[in-house]
Amino acid sequence: MSTHETIITQTTNFVNEYKLIHSPGSIQPHGVLLAISKASLLILQVSNNAEEFLDKTADELLNQPLSTLVGDRSSQEILQCLSQSAVNCLKLTIETQTGERYFDATVHQVEKTIIIELEIRNSKAEITFLQGHSLLRGIIANMQNTPKMTDFLQLLASEVRKITGFDRVMVYKFDQYQAGSVVAEDKLPDLIPYLGLHYPSTDIPQASRELYKRNSIRYIPNLTAKVIELVPQTHQPLDLSCSILRSSDECCVKFHQNMGVNALLVISLIHEQKLWGLISCHHQTAKYLPYEIRTICEFLGQVASSELGNKEIQEDLDAKAKLKSLQSDFIKSISQASNFIEVLTQPEPKLLDFVNSPGAALCLGSEINKVGNTPSDEQINALIEWANIHIKDEIFSTNCLTKHYPEGENFKDTGSGLLLLRISLVKRYYILWFRPEVIQTVNWAGNPRDSIQIDGDGNIALSPRTSFALWQEIVRLTSISWKQWEIDSALDLRNAIVGIVIHKADELARINLELERSNRELDSFAYAASHDLKEPLRGIHNYSIILLEDYGHLLDEEGIEFLNTLLSLTQRMDNLIDVLLKISQLGQTEIRLQTTDLNQLVRQVINMFRASRPKINFEIRIAQPLPIFECDSVLIGEVFSNLIGNAFKYNDSPRKSVEVGYFARDDDSHHLKNHINHHIASDSDRPIFYIKDNGIGIKNHHRETIFRLFKRLHSQEKYGGGNGAGLAITKKIIELHGGYIWVESTYGKGSTFYFTL
Ligand code: ADP
Repeated sequence: MSTHETIITQTTNFVNEYKLIHSPGSIQPHGVLLAISKASLLILQVSNNAEEFLDKTADELLNQPLSTLVGDRSSQEILQCLSQSAVNCLKLTIETQTGERYFDATVHQVEKTIIIELEIRNSKAEITFLQGHSLLRGIIANMQNTPKMTDFLQLLASEVRKITGFDRVMVYKFDQYQAGSVVAEDKLPDLIPYLGLHYPSTDIPQASRELYKRNSIRYIPNLTAKVIELVPQTHQPLDLSCSILRSSDECCVKFHQNMGVNALLVISLIHEQKLWGLISCHHQTAKYLPYEIRTICEFLGQVASSELGNKEIQEDLDAKAKLKSLQSDFIKSISQASNFIEVLTQPEPKLLDFVNSPGAALCLGSEINKVGNTPSDEQINALIEWANIHIKDEIFSTNCLTKHYPEGENFKDTGSGLLLLRISLVKRYYILWFRPEVIQTVNWAGNPRDSIQIDGDGNIALSPRTSFALWQEIVRLTSISWKQWEIDSALDLRNAIVGIVIHKADELARINLELERSNRELDSFAYAASHDLKEPLRGIHNYSIILLEDYGHLLDEEGIEFLNTLLSLTQRMDNLIDVLLKISQLGQTEIRLQTTDLNQLVRQVINMFRASRPKINFEIRIAQPLPIFECDSVLIGEVFSNLIGNAFKYNDSPRKSVEVGYFARDDDSHHLKNHINHHIASDSDRPIFYIKDNGIGIKNHHRETIFRLFKRLHSQEKYGGGNGAGLAITKKIIELHGGYIWVESTYGKGSTFYFTL
């Protein structure tokens, strides 16, 4: 069937259902109905029980003027009544063959027809205006002084039960999908409770909902009573949608009979022109209520309806205020914390209170921190993979995840509902809140299967319990919906986090700038100092030489040795000052980037190295052709030279071997990827160069110290000497190129130095 056809069929069904419920062509037997032509005031139609109430048969009444039945004065009163509002009540006295009879008359107009409904007035049960007023005054004051919605509805249920004397009074509330739940109940103690039960929207047909909206009260004192037909039956049945005597449809009768209910009073609760819920009163036997009592209940329903808005606003305000204060505490603690993951997830699960959910996960790249009841790490990871591709906005919420992500069924017990907040797409930073399948959340009020009723033909009869089971089927894989302000509060959190991160980045930039400035100052100070030191040092050196050459003969052997030591010390100091000068110069000069063939560069370094150490037995290989790269070729040449030099220097293998190579960052298979990512921002795609040797290795705790200036692990004489500056200079050059250097080593077996540029 096409969508168009489906719509037509649905509409036709609705129209049929509507006609059936609105115009049943019959009324309940506890009153009599007269349909009068507005133009002629002649009786057009009458219920077939007229004789019982009016001592006149239908035939005797039909086509007679209204005034012959009620008299001229009452006839005028009825007409006046009409002009005031839709449905009006007046008291009527009608002369019958057996004397005067007193009626409560309800009058309204449908198109060109006046409908008059008469119920016998019971003078003993009559309540005076003052009695009604004082009763209502107390109840209304109580209702206004009950701020909490649940208490308020409970009060409403018990007051209505007190007034009506029904066995059970319930307050139903409809959700956004029109499914209902029993939110308050007052009942005889031995009846089974229905409080907390849920049922699907189909339990109350759309046409009935329309009627509940139009008429704020519906009264059926005896569901099993035989209905009374209107005569004559017309081709176009009379519209009884506003009639108080309208007979009820079979489905409604059956539904309530299944519940053991025989009398029904339903009062509508309307909020913002929508049917918010119902006050539903059940009685196990027939129950007749005087018109005044029903009016008091109707009025109470109207007052409750107008209070609903206040209570709901108040409840929302309270929840929002609580949330706001939680939010501001939370955001304050995030902004002050050094580790904001800890603040989000510990010590109490604040993250959960934030949007009122029992489980949440904070995902930062591949790291997942979970709070409360959540799906597993694997499931969360897969969900994020999906979200990364399919969710375009920074926030996404659903109360039925499986509709979007069918794999969600595997974790329906924790995550049928999802509120997802994306903080960064590139870095895969997410906060996810989960809600379980709603069935896990609601109040069971007993096992619904206990009361499923099956009739003789094997059909499952509709009863609250079966309805509940049906509702459970409908709400499978669904969670409680996310409220708009919960979604907003998640968005606020995102803004706050982003704000804090930006603020931290600003601060970092400021500190960096300051650091750079003081580094530059330090460098220029070091430069000036070392430059100035060189001069007196040269003096000391020169005078020592003069002493040795011109006055050496005056000194004994020990004196000459002292002078020689002095000379070698000045020589060493000169070397150290040169290193300092070099380092401070590095800090002051700009690097000169040029396109460099690293293959060529490394080969030059190797050739120079071979030429300077012709006797050393060594093997050096380039693992794969190195890339062409933008760098300062002189400085990078120095880096390779230092690292290759060290690889041979700190090596006592009989056959020294060194390998130079690099990894491309998209090389997924490489086992070092994790380690590498730990050192370098994961979004960087720069290659990683390495120099691997089979030398003496470096102990773990020295892996950082070797990069410090003048830090040597061996005495000057061992391994061909050195001033402990090579790696410090190397590091500085690499950092000038925006890169990192680090070492991996197995002591006694060899080391690999890695660096990026
Ligand atoms: P030096 O100029 O004295 O060689 P470096 O700064 O180059 O100083 O190195 C610092 C220290 O790191 C060296 O003293 C040495 O102990 C250690 N080292 C450097 N490279 C290696 C290597 N490839 N294998 C083992 N140890 C090394």
